[in-house]
Amino acid sequence: MPATSIPTKLPEKLELPSDQDSTGRTLGDREVKYVTEAIRSGTLTSTKGTFTKRFETAFAEKVDAKHAIACASGSAAIHVAVAALKLEPGDEVITTSITDMGALTPILFQGGIPVFADVDPTTWNVTAHSIRQRISEKTRGIIVTHLFGNPCDMDPIMEVAREHDIPVIEDCAQAFLATYRGRQVGTLGDIGCFSLQQGKHITTGEGGICVTNNEHFAREIFLFVNKAWGYGDAKPDHYYSALNYRLSELQGAVALAQLEQLDEVVSSRVSGAAKLTELISDLDGIRPPVHTVESVHTYWKYCLSIDAERHPEGAPRLAALLRERGIACAPRYIQKPAFECEVFRNQRTLGDSRFPFNHARPEATDYDRSHFPGTYRGLEEVLVLPWNEAYTQEHIEAIARAVIECVEQLDA
Ligand SMILES: *Cc1c(COP(=O)(O)O)cnc(C)c1O
Repeated sequence: MPATSIPTKLPEKLELPSDQDSTGRTLGDREVKYVTEAIRSGTLTSTKGTFTKRFETAFAEKVDAKHAIACASGSAAIHVAVAALKLEPGDEVITTSITDMGALTPILFQGGIPVFADVDPTTWNVTAHSIRQRISEKTRGIIVTHLFGNPCDMDPIMEVAREHDIPVIEDCAQAFLATYRGRQVGTLGDIGCFSLQQGKHITTGEGGICVTNNEHFAREIFLFVNKAWGYGDAKPDHYYSALNYRLSELQGAVALAQLEQLDEVVSSRVSGAAKLTELISDLDGIRPPVHTVESVHTYWKYCLSIDAERHPEGAPRLAALLRERGIACAPRYIQKPAFECEVFRNQRTLGDSRFPFNHARPEATDYDRSHFPGTYRGLEEVLVLPWNEAYTQEHIEAIARAVIECVEQLDA
């Protein structure tokens, strides 16, 4: 039994480091130094300053991409990536039923119809198979989310995409430095999008960045972040409808300092997760995270899967027991599939127009439960544990003990 290898001198109630405050964030002297420099320089816009540019250059290098363009949030990163696809109203973008809303509403803002693909209930990621089923003559893009830090199985996904000549956007908000067959996520498809929001691997409070190896997309992304103003062009103009999605120098300074710590953040999360998996791997009906083949999962969260047949209602019951011990975990992750949210169910967009849903094929907005068996099962069985680079051996042993004892209680 793994439980016997864990020391017993543990506190009743755990005080775990949290990504919502200084206990679980890597914000320190380096950030203060760079921000101070930015403030003293008197230049806080990234169009004139140096920090955001330095961050972009360093980030591109870190993930092996030719171009990196910083922006205001992860949602903004998805928005500029979708904008680069130049959709016509009613064009379809295949996406996933389990993701952050910030990865979905940008499609609507660009006149596109999000078409939901089902997920693999063991990894909660979309698959080549589920994507292929949703392709139509109107499909103009695919967005995959590397959920919880685990890369999607990208080779077969890219094969389907290339077969139909459809560009792929990777949502890497939860998957900094994750790799698939030795390559960084964000560079496997056409555009990669990252978030620097408070709870991500590294943070500027709010912020984001896009990466691409494609010159055309790099230009479009740059323009969309900058109100489509042609900086540096012979005859610049505002070429089309776009927003100001720039990251400020204050955020750029913090981002640069954070990036310098990203390797350590990731390696600590990965090694900590391996320890927990070792300690709880023998539990009946409880499955530790499953990796995609030949990939490195970088653990934004650590997700257990509770076999619903072995432990009926197991995930919510286990969550309640773990919370009593001070472990703030979340059954069901986003509670319901994204397409059950009002914005999609009631098609609430621009005024009462329903735009762009009034351009949609009926099949594209058919959210019948029968199309999404993996999604419903995945949400029923998932239990999301918070994860953090500041967890010590003691924290991880305490989490393991709590999980083991709470699982025993499930059967009592
Ligand atoms: C956080 C997140 C986003 C949105 O990022 P924000 O910075 O919060 O706008 C998008 N997709 C995924 C998968 C996320 O986790």
